[in-house]
Amino acid sequence: MKKKLRNKRFRFIKVILFIFILWIVLYIPIKVKHFTLIRNEVKAGEIFNENLETIQYFKDIKSNYSNFYGDENKLAEIKTLIQSIEDNLSNGVTIEVENLVLELKSKVNDLSASNERELEEYFNSITEGSIKNFNDEESNEVNKIINEYNTLFSDKNYKLAKEKLDELNQYINETKKIANKRKIDETYEEKASEDASLREPKYINGILLVNKEFGLPDTFAPGESTEAREAFEKMKSDAANEGIYLNAFSTYRSYWSQDRLYSNYVANYGQDPTDTFSAKAGFSEHQTGLAFDIGGVDRSLWAEEDFKYTEEAKWLKNNCTKYGFILRYPEGKEWITGYMHESWHFRYIGVNDSKNFENSDLTLEEYLGV
Ligand SMILES: [Zn+2]
Repeated sequence: MKKKLRNKRFRFIKVILFIFILWIVLYIPIKVKHFTLIRNEVKAGEIFNENLETIQYFKDIKSNYSNFYGDENKLAEIKTLIQSIEDNLSNGVTIEVENLVLELKSKVNDLSASNERELEEYFNSITEGSIKNFNDEESNEVNKIINEYNTLFSDKNYKLAKEKLDELNQYINETKKIANKRKIDETYEEKASEDASLREPKYINGILLVNKEFGLPDTFAPGESTEAREAFEKMKSDAANEGIYLNAFSTYRSYWSQDRLYSNYVANYGQDPTDTFSAKAGFSEHQTGLAFDIGGVDRSLWAEEDFKYTEEAKWLKNNCTKYGFILRYPEGKEWITGYMHESWHFRYIGVNDSKNFENSDLTLEEYLGV
């Protein structure tokens, strides 16, 4: 009876064991297969996402690369790359497509970095120190354009950002002339109304500067500079050897003779027109004894606008710096000098300095950094 019971129990254990082994043999491979399937699916999903990113990136570049500017060759290379990616995409996102997109990415990064660098340099060159003397309205306009530029720049719309900087450049260049002229006029009014006897001559690096901002006291009366006269006579004789005849028809003028001259002009032309070509007493460079008004053989052109077309005027312009003279009021620099172009008015500053003015329309104000 006991043995029977034990056999029964043993059989039961054998059945359980059999079921268990069956389960292991059948279930594990199924499970393994299942896990492999899941893993592959995840992997496929990842690839799909990567492909999507690649395609998305490609689409972005395709629609945005026209926002870049610059080197035609680089733009052409990018265009070609985009074309070959499109051709390859008909086979799906292959390894080749991925490599081409990587190449595209690198070229686009290069271009956008160089665009950014250039724009920053351009921006700095435009704005550096050139907006002084702007009034509130003008400063606001500058800030408005700069804000528009900043938006375009951060949107990576470099092409339009550059156009915006061109606009800013143009606005600042035009406005700085107006602002400078306004400042000269204001300073001139103020300085001219001050007591002439209290003025101090302004020397910068040993050069006496006289203009609408820096005047001379009424007691400043050095007479014609002998050094300047000698330089002029040398220039005159060298010019004569080339068949050019020069005449210094007006050099030193005292405070009081300038006062008389200016009053006569004002009586004849009115003050505003007079101020464009003649100085108030105490503000004429002729009072320094270093300014020479020079004419040629045709006396009717002395101190006339048309003198600039004569052989003498051309010779003077090309040669005066060799003798220590400079053309004091160049064309297009009225906003700096405060005076219209005077092709006959030359200022002696000595050869060491005048040589820096050779073949340029540099003004004494620019040279001395005022
Ligand atoms: Zn003059």
